[in-house]
Amino acid sequence: MIVIMRIGCSQDDISRVTNRIVDAGLRVYMPNGVERTVIGVVGQSFPGLRDALESLPGVDQVIPVARPYQLASREFHPEDTIIDVGGVTIGGREVVIMAGPCAVESDEQLMLTAQAVKAAGANVLRGGAFKPRTSPYEFRGLGERGLRILAEVGGEVGMPVVTEVMCPDDVDLVSQYADILQIGSRNMQNFVLLDEVGRTRKPILLKRGLSSNIQEWLLAAEYVLVQGNEKVILCERGIRTFENYARNTMDINAIPIVEKVSHLPVIADPSHATGKWYLVPPLALAAVAAGADGLLVEVHPNPDLALADGPQSLTFDNFRLLMSQLLPVVEARNRKLAISGVRVNP
Ligand code: PEP
Ligand code: MN
Repeated sequence: MIVIMRIGCSQDDISRVTNRIVDAGLRVYMPNGVERTVIGVVGQSFPGLRDALESLPGVDQVIPVARPYQLASREFHPEDTIIDVGGVTIGGREVVIMAGPCAVESDEQLMLTAQAVKAAGANVLRGGAFKPRTSPYEFRGLGERGLRILAEVGGEVGMPVVTEVMCPDDVDLVSQYADILQIGSRNMQNFVLLDEVGRTRKPILLKRGLSSNIQEWLLAAEYVLVQGNEKVILCERGIRTFENYARNTMDINAIPIVEKVSHLPVIADPSHATGKWYLVPPLALAAVAAGADGLLVEVHPNPDLALADGPQSLTFDNFRLLMSQLLPVVEARNRKLAISGVRVNP
């Protein structure tokens, strides 16, 4: 529910409304920068509260929110959320490029990749240290050693780093190294993990669950937001459909839909969406054309030898080619490619 106050209402009128909401066991959300005082009611409302609020002095209208997510909705927060990560802004006019290998494999592999993607214009370095793998026999990442390599290389080349955290107990550890915490597709509805990352103040890259609809995805974001962490970046990474030619089906629809219903930035991951390196560039261009605020792309010095997701990884040459193809699309959307950032963590 959203309470719209009359123009010129008094501070007492506002306090009376907020006190009534808190007395009802609900929370108050007051967005900045709107012309009139607007008060969001956060939580499960009940019949009768609307009438009670509407009858208070200074209240103009009480509008029920049609969608079950609240803090993630544009109704509550009309302006775009823009997240700064070491000088790279996500969700504003800039299109941000996050690139790197699926998994951190060694110092050398990551350093070579970081230098190549940075020189080609990438802004954020990606690399998994804790890897969710479909089979337990596959490479599951270097763990803390991988985090250390990622942080060191990010620091040396001057790029903020993003990496996945898979369980609540690891959130502290991963936060010591990462500038952005990634929640993987398989964990999108791991509510205990969402609570935990919501208690940090790190930007959270929230992948869409492989079989989740947009509403479930935004409700997962709501879990993080309601803990007080406002920095959620949504990431469309393809969903399961009946089509099985590609690894997943990239839901391009989701990008403008999310932009319409939510203020949160949304980026696209054409690597996991397709599973095939030659499908990555066309889907990357399509995502930016559809309004994505950025891309997450897997790049490897030698995809044939990659320990994870080689078939979908771009070579350095193919990543450079993609970056050159991207520029006219970015400009056609009246946007620009983001500039380089720095590591936020020491
Ligand atoms: C990844 O980014 O390497 C990854 C495992 O992604 P997803 O959770 O989208 O499968
Ligand atoms: Mn991967």
